[in-house]
Amino acid sequence: RKQVGKLKTGSNALDELLGGGVETQSITEFYGEFGSGKTQVAHQLAVKVQLPPEEGGLGGSVIMIDTENTFRPERIAQMVKGLKGGEDLDPEEFLKNIHVARAYNSNHQILLVESASELAEKMRDSDRPVKLIIVDSLTAHFRSEYVGRGTLADRQQKLNKHMHDLMRFGDINNAAIVVTNQVQAKPDAFFGDPTRPIGGHIVGHTATFRLYLRKSKGEKRIARLVDSPNLPEGEAIFSVTTEGLRD
Ligand code: ADP
Ligand code: MG
Repeated sequence: RKQVGKLKTGSNALDELLGGGVETQSITEFYGEFGSGKTQVAHQLAVKVQLPPEEGGLGGSVIMIDTENTFRPERIAQMVKGLKGGEDLDPEEFLKNIHVARAYNSNHQILLVESASELAEKMRDSDRPVKLIIVDSLTAHFRSEYVGRGTLADRQQKLNKHMHDLMRFGDINNAAIVVTNQVQAKPDAFFGDPTRPIGGHIVGHTATFRLYLRKSKGEKRIARLVDSPNLPEGEAIFSVTTEGLRD
């Protein structure tokens, strides 16, 4: 096992909650309602991962699997400008290292991890190895395609495979894996609690770190760490600002 890297988020409180940052060789899941900030976190990490380790990054590039068409280059540019010394940085240079792949359905999403592995292999010995893979959102396609009785087992099996493919990607590349997930819109027969993430125990057992995001006043967001194997449960308050994530 290679030494685990830690990717800083821009919020010290959130980094501390995660034991120093988002870890490589682990799956970190951000789940929460619409607007809770999951896609903002994804954008911020896609920028931060490119910084050298001294600045909290992993000196790498990123593969972003975008399932809801919510990736915004303009948002990346704002966050680059929000970095320390950002006025002198060129957002285009950062955008070049963000490989965005749009997933059209759940099978395509699964296949994209294979393409990601091929790309990462090609880039492994370059000066920009892939150090982060993001799936935003992990479950949206699965949820809309597998509806009704009798589809749950099939959905869970596919999700299980997908999560394991991602985990393998993280191990082989010593990369961080970040996935986003919604909460149940309404209680369902299997997971009655409406604040439960989609995918139930399959996603839950494969994700190493699970963070439940919720809105607070204005820019403020609350992240709660749940079911971590080695870290205490707790909460962090951070802000989503135009410049990016902050305390
Ligand atoms: P989701 O959890 O659904 O992915 P998002 O990450 O898209 O939620 O969060 C959307 C929220 O992020 C907005 O409601 C707003 O509060 C904040 N946000 C989005 N863009 C900006 C911006 N350019 N400047 C400041 N805040 C922003
Ligand atoms: Mg989103």
